[in-house]
Amino acid sequence: MQNFGIKEALTTLGVKATNIGTSTGKKWIRSKGESISSYSPVDGKLIGKVQATDEKAFEKVVVEAKKAFVEWRQIPAPKRGEIVRQIGEALRKYKEPLGKLVSYEMGKSYQEGLGEVQEMIDICDFAVGLSRQLNGLTMHSERPAHRMYEQYHPLGIVGIISAFNFPVAVWAWNTMLAWVCGDVCIWKPSEKTPLCSIACQNIINKVFAKNNVPEGVSCIVNGDYKIGEQMCSNENIPLVSATGSVRMGKAVGRTVSERLGRALLELGGNNAIIITENANLDISIRGALFGAVGTAGQRCTTTRRLIVHENVYDEVKARLKKAYSNLNIGNPLDQQNHVGPLIDTLAVKAYRNALKKVKEEGGSFVVTGGSLSGKGFESGCYVKPAIAEVKNTFEIVQQETFAPILYLIKYKTIEEAIGFQNGVKQGLSSAIMTTNMNEMERFLSHNGSDCGIANVNIGTSGAEIGGAFGGEKETGGGRESGSDSWKIYMRRQTNTINYGNTLPLAQGIKFDI
Ligand code: NAD
Repeated sequence: MQNFGIKEALTTLGVKATNIGTSTGKKWIRSKGESISSYSPVDGKLIGKVQATDEKAFEKVVVEAKKAFVEWRQIPAPKRGEIVRQIGEALRKYKEPLGKLVSYEMGKSYQEGLGEVQEMIDICDFAVGLSRQLNGLTMHSERPAHRMYEQYHPLGIVGIISAFNFPVAVWAWNTMLAWVCGDVCIWKPSEKTPLCSIACQNIINKVFAKNNVPEGVSCIVNGDYKIGEQMCSNENIPLVSATGSVRMGKAVGRTVSERLGRALLELGGNNAIIITENANLDISIRGALFGAVGTAGQRCTTTRRLIVHENVYDEVKARLKKAYSNLNIGNPLDQQNHVGPLIDTLAVKAYRNALKKVKEEGGSFVVTGGSLSGKGFESGCYVKPAIAEVKNTFEIVQQETFAPILYLIKYKTIEEAIGFQNGVKQGLSSAIMTTNMNEMERFLSHNGSDCGIANVNIGTSGAEIGGAFGGEKETGGGRESGSDSWKIYMRRQTNTINYGNTLPLAQGIKFDI
């Protein structure tokens, strides 16, 4: 296979053949944790190994993070923002090698790998501005000579559990906000993409060293769900931000709420685009295509369902079929290719299983799928994007299969289309393609999409960092990234000050003695 500069990227990022997977910043902590091998889905080759964090090492990290929090919260927020600004600069410098590693370890296209690092840079910029705007409100007190206001204080240790499909951006969404808010972070990356975490820590370390940031502000623990569970049950961690499957979110939610901690959950989606008879079909096809096959269907916001008006259904079907026939599948580092591999052979199995279920439930294929073998596909992780005509009520359509399978569903009325769109358990991203104002506004109204994200004339995937990101129902209800998502990373306090010489009680209560 052509190298595409992977070796050089690993060297530049300081990722070695064997890496210690536990860190409190400068210090890398050895443990007795198992060795995790990271194989690339691109060519099936071993990229490197990471020693997982064991229980003892985890406890050490928490002690260090707790100490660091006391120091870090003393630093004024705009000064913390200045450090995040420098991280943004460092990420600009390392954008290409990090983008390559993301592509090689996770399997998304190099362009999407670069895009993911760009998201990290964007959230740094956002956080820098935010560091001067962690504002509370002032309110008018009902009592004379009283003043009332609210303020936001640093919260403490933020635990971050991330999924394989965004191996670096989701960490940055959380950490950059948490750091300007005065929190310290412990990151448990996906066990499927551990090397990305080593690379990020190495980049951060250079900036932190220059600014004398205390040890423990940026911590990493590696491992599978067991170390995640330990994080969730640890009472020293007031907030656990977890990104992953609904199954994982239910477990995390249970454990964190058991100790009355905060959980920010970013879980699976089952996203749909409604294409109405008034849609511009050129942009509809483009939006659906990127939404369905981008990242090989492994985005939480991937377009899984296309709900198409009966008057344009046949044309949409034909045009999509043609577009799919022009897709190049192969090494995602080769920029000629549009679709890379799935993350591993287990994901291929789940994809095949879903195709089987579509048939069993009475669906038919417009574009037949299947896995690919032979030259260039040696990893066994490459599959063909498929399109199937189905009913929204099929059991398989109700589930999120993390692979490029697009379901076509026909509708007659806008009410029916919105009913289909909302008729799943997940509620992450949604879109309508229309030039008709009534349809547009209906979709965005309280009677419309029930998702956290609702777009008009763009697809379901590819959110900007400036908006709050997240979804409703089984997607978990959490919001990350832009808007006022920062508030969950802080401790909110209401303050009332009496500057008079009497003590009137609220609600006019009399208590005279
Ligand atoms: P996953 O649920 O298998 O794993 C995600 C993370 O959770 C991993 O780090 C894993 O080790 C950890 N984990 C698993 N079980 C745990 C437990 N019981 N306690 C604590 N930690 C546990 O998900 P995945 O396959 O890595 O990622 C794909 C899923 O993530 C999809 O469902 C996708 O939609 C979702 N996702 C959601 C968003 C979002 O923002 N809504 C973003 C990206 C991915």
